[in-house]
Amino acid sequence: VTETTRKPEWLKVRLPHGEGYERVKAIVKRTKLATVCEEARCPNIAECWGGGTATVMLMGEVCTRACRFCHVKVGAPPPLDPMEPIHLAQAVKEMNLEYIVVTSVNRDDRPDGGASHFASAIRELRRESPKTIVEVLIPDFKGVEKDLTTVAEAKPHVVAHNVETVERLTPTVRDRRATYRQSLKVLEYLKNRPEGLYTKTSVMVGLGETDAELEQTFKDLRSVGVDVLTLGQYLQPSQYHLRVERFVTPAQFEAYKSLAESYGFLYVASGPLVRSSYRAAEFFMKGLME
Ligand code: SF4
Ligand code: SF4
Repeated sequence: VTETTRKPEWLKVRLPHGEGYERVKAIVKRTKLATVCEEARCPNIAECWGGGTATVMLMGEVCTRACRFCHVKVGAPPPLDPMEPIHLAQAVKEMNLEYIVVTSVNRDDRPDGGASHFASAIRELRRESPKTIVEVLIPDFKGVEKDLTTVAEAKPHVVAHNVETVERLTPTVRDRRATYRQSLKVLEYLKNRPEGLYTKTSVMVGLGETDAELEQTFKDLRSVGVDVLTLGQYLQPSQYHLRVERFVTPAQFEAYKSLAESYGFLYVASGPLVRSSYRAAEFFMKGLME
């Protein structure tokens, strides 16, 4: 065990429990929803599910890309299930969530990257659960504006696309088809559209980035109008994935939060266990939507 493989105290979490958590878990199991919360073994599951937030995956669990930080399987994905958006919306209604994040693997095999499937899911969710805040965490759709438009026109409350890391590390961390500049363009395009969507992105730390590079990333994100930023510790999903270069202390996460806030984000969540969707219902959206 080396310094970077031994997890510090602040990353240890208790087994999930609680009434809200159990209730959501039972519905997820019965409706066979694929949740990122379970599949990524997210440490926040009890807090999120108990607090009315969950992240589900559309379009299967096999990705056409291969990022070096991600646990998802790579290969040829199955055909789309046209009923999936309807089933998802029914399950979410039953779960009575305050905040749903809908994400997907990359579907570069689809002519529109899966944009129209996302759009149907958004429409169904908004119809079935008008009080639930709908966030979509989307792939880059190779930067194709028509596909981004398809998603935006379905009017999610929040549209997220993750840059994941600083510019220099992007080629080592993300699939080679994903670029930092393209992700910035995606975020800019979405922000400038007439729907007035909130935009959001996530950055992982602990991959070898410097403080100066992180600060540059904050600036770049604000220059394209990103509203919400989440910053969390990268954790290595298996020995075949990128190693953790450092464990960032809670105090340092606080310092990054202040630095990022000084650039004018509407909301910054920053902490060792923060994930893209961490307690989204309880945190920023309540403030922003009221
Ligand atoms: Fe994972 Fe997304 Fe990369 Fe696919 S594109 S490997 S789902 S991070
Ligand atoms: Fe699920 Fe995201 Fe919460 Fe983790 S942080 S439990 S993935 S909603």
